[in-house]
Amino acid sequence: MFSNAVKLFSINGFDIKLDPSWLLIAALITWTLSQGYFPAILPHQSTGTYLAMALIAMLCFFASLLLHELAHSVVARRLGVPIKGITLFLFGGVAELEAEPRSAAVEFWVALAGPVMSLALALGFWILAQLSETLAAATPVSMVLGYLALINLILALFNLVPAFPLDGGRVLRAYLWHRKGDVLAATETAAQSGTIFAYVLMGFGLVALFNGALIAGLWQIMIGFFVLMAARAAYQTQLAKVAFDHKTVAALMQRDPIVISPEMTLSEFVNRIMLRHNVSFVPVVEDGVLLGHMDQAVLAGIDREHWSNTRVGDVFAGLDGQASISGEMPVQDLMVRIADTGRRKFLVVDGHQLMGVISLADLTRYLRLSDLVRHR
Ligand SMILES: [Zn+2]
Repeated sequence: MFSNAVKLFSINGFDIKLDPSWLLIAALITWTLSQGYFPAILPHQSTGTYLAMALIAMLCFFASLLLHELAHSVVARRLGVPIKGITLFLFGGVAELEAEPRSAAVEFWVALAGPVMSLALALGFWILAQLSETLAAATPVSMVLGYLALINLILALFNLVPAFPLDGGRVLRAYLWHRKGDVLAATETAAQSGTIFAYVLMGFGLVALFNGALIAGLWQIMIGFFVLMAARAAYQTQLAKVAFDHKTVAALMQRDPIVISPEMTLSEFVNRIMLRHNVSFVPVVEDGVLLGHMDQAVLAGIDREHWSNTRVGDVFAGLDGQASISGEMPVQDLMVRIADTGRRKFLVVDGHQLMGVISLADLTRYLRLSDLVRHR
């Protein structure tokens, strides 16, 4: 997800990474604070003072986000969920879990840890701000502390909105999962609330845009869009996980696919096989022995004028580890293979024996059917 993220440092074994998009936010926050917020609440200071206040506030906000994500990570690790690292990007931070939480209780505590940390930070900064104001009335220091208390409170409350993928949505999912024991139904409900929240946020963003609040409006629309995409993906991911659980390739593959002989010419292959049967990936078999496959990519490498005098046997793609898989392979692993390699069609083999073929389309069709059966 964050291929451009740069590793900054690591704390306690957690890699802290920064997506370049976060620099945009850092600049935006510094600019807004130094030009608008601080001059408004503490007038008659120099430009340099405002800039210094804004920079310190931005860096402490950055640290606060990091602590929020670290709280998720520490609790996750404690409860046995491996963590890849923490990435700060456009919309805050993400603690990248290597696996989904195993139980509702684990998900609940991992999700709650972040907002609890933000609330604690808000309280801490608020107490410090009060102390510094008792000592010396309103100063740049107390104003920065006050801002940090406020922003951490906002961070905690925003994240507690029960809309997946926000922390509150995860808490909601954990609660429903615990009550009904159905993680997929729980994910669906949490994702629906995420979708509604996303549309509401984008609606507010549009209103703000029409009222001339350009940055705030665009901001809300972008976050709304991000939440919408994440909510959709969450249900799809969970559906795939439940539907493919304990399934092997052999259970979902097409048995007895159309096969061709290496003697066939390319013209015959195109007209009699591809066009007539509407297939583009065809195993090449001779005397019951699987030799390889033909597909559009192979065909595209041969000039059309040579199709009538070229045989499949001269050009087909031979058996290799890329296109052939075993029927024993778990479907989950096949999904990973598809994501890693971009290849969508596979021969299912047992040595040189063809067992069947399977494609990404077979998997998505099965998912759609599973979804349909659920909502019957
Ligand atoms: Zn969080």
